[in-house]
Amino acid sequence: MAFSLPDLKYDYNALEPYIDGRTMEIHHSKHHRGYTNKFNAAIEGSALADQSIEEILAGAGSHGAAILNNGGGFYNHNLFWEVMTPNGGGQPQGDLMQAINDAFGSFEEFRSKFSDAAATRFGSGWAWLVKTGSGLVVTSTPNQDNPLMDIAEVKGTPVLVIDVWEHAYYLKYQHRRPEYIEAFWNVVNWTEAGNRFGS
Ligand code: MN
Repeated sequence: MAFSLPDLKYDYNALEPYIDGRTMEIHHSKHHRGYTNKFNAAIEGSALADQSIEEILAGAGSHGAAILNNGGGFYNHNLFWEVMTPNGGGQPQGDLMQAINDAFGSFEEFRSKFSDAAATRFGSGWAWLVKTGSGLVVTSTPNQDNPLMDIAEVKGTPVLVIDVWEHAYYLKYQHRRPEYIEAFWNVVNWTEAGNRFGS
């Protein structure tokens, strides 16, 4: 298998009470594993099997639905687990904080824009903080699309992301997506986001 499901760096219940352990377990061991397996099956035996995930996603618009959806699902969840941590929350430091202030005026204004993008993404998808050539941008994508894809409206380096598929929150929050988004801010790994911004 070309790509493997990563282990989480924390226990399934480590993000409680903000994200419950049962949701994390199903999300990682069932949903993420499913995307990973289907992605590997879709690229097996093709020239794509020798490419990096970034290279594959950069051509996602022409590789067909199985690679678009499952390659995106594989990558997006890898990132989502990384930008969360049990001792998270608060605000970023250093260059990332400066860039947020430059782009949005204040951290609170950024947070409001990101939460709004996550709450208003219709159906299933993701909200993102993206480093583009002209600075930081908040955007959202449908399904498993992401800013590394050639078909993305906003392209760039993902700095922060939240999964707003119902499978990410339905057991604990049911239809109350805004409550899940509010809780997410308590588990954001700003150290990791800062590293991604600096890379
Ligand atoms: Mn998900």
